[in-house]
Amino acid sequence: MTTEPTYVILLGPPASGKGTQAARLKEYLSVPHIASGDLFRYNLKNETALGLKAKEYMDRGALVPDDITIGMVLDRLSRPDCEDGALFDGFPRTLPQAQALDEALAEQGEKLDRVLNIQVPDEELVERVSGRRICRTCGEPYHIKYKKPEKGGICDLDGGELYQREDDKPETVRKRIKVYWEQTSPLIDYYREKGILRDIDGDQPIDEVTEALKEAVSDLVD
Ligand code: AMP
Repeated sequence: MTTEPTYVILLGPPASGKGTQAARLKEYLSVPHIASGDLFRYNLKNETALGLKAKEYMDRGALVPDDITIGMVLDRLSRPDCEDGALFDGFPRTLPQAQALDEALAEQGEKLDRVLNIQVPDEELVERVSGRRICRTCGEPYHIKYKKPEKGGICDLDGGELYQREDDKPETVRKRIKVYWEQTSPLIDYYREKGILRDIDGDQPIDEVTEALKEAVSDLVD
């Protein structure tokens, strides 16, 4: 184990497998998983002011404004369980978010170690999302074809009810993919220029993607 904190980002379009892979990779890296979408959904479920503000953007597949998103994620990052680092999923999604994260880490004398760019063709994403189901309690993602729960409609981890996300409807998904290409994909070049980006083929079986991701961060563990 290194003594320096480890910061890794999972970058990729909606339904590219970030959440599924993060659950595995966080164990490998021994850091907490910070998923901005999960944080928003948690706030929404608890009807906090932040959740209610985020809802209008989420429902139409748009990005929540940067100031709200950055504040929420940096607040999460300041908790004690992140002292050895974090695995980000769904954040950053814009250049100002990426710059805010760089600055926040630099203030602590730290920096990002790696950005894993999960690549999946757009047609495949729409197909994946239509079968996606999420645990209402813990947010664990499933798929009716590719990642079935042991018991129909119930989460393997905590027995929570599985549901289809409101923003996983085909029209909203197409909008979210468009938003990804317009607002998030510039981050690929941003991080490539810093020399910390690795491309990962996300269009293969789940276990093979996990192996490729582990390989791409293996130098960061022990
Ligand atoms: P996700 O679960 O990552 O697909 O996120 C679901 C929704 O939450 C997105 O479509 C956005 O509306 C919002 N969201 C999540 N992360 C961010 C982010 N980093 N910046 C802006 N909006 C976000």
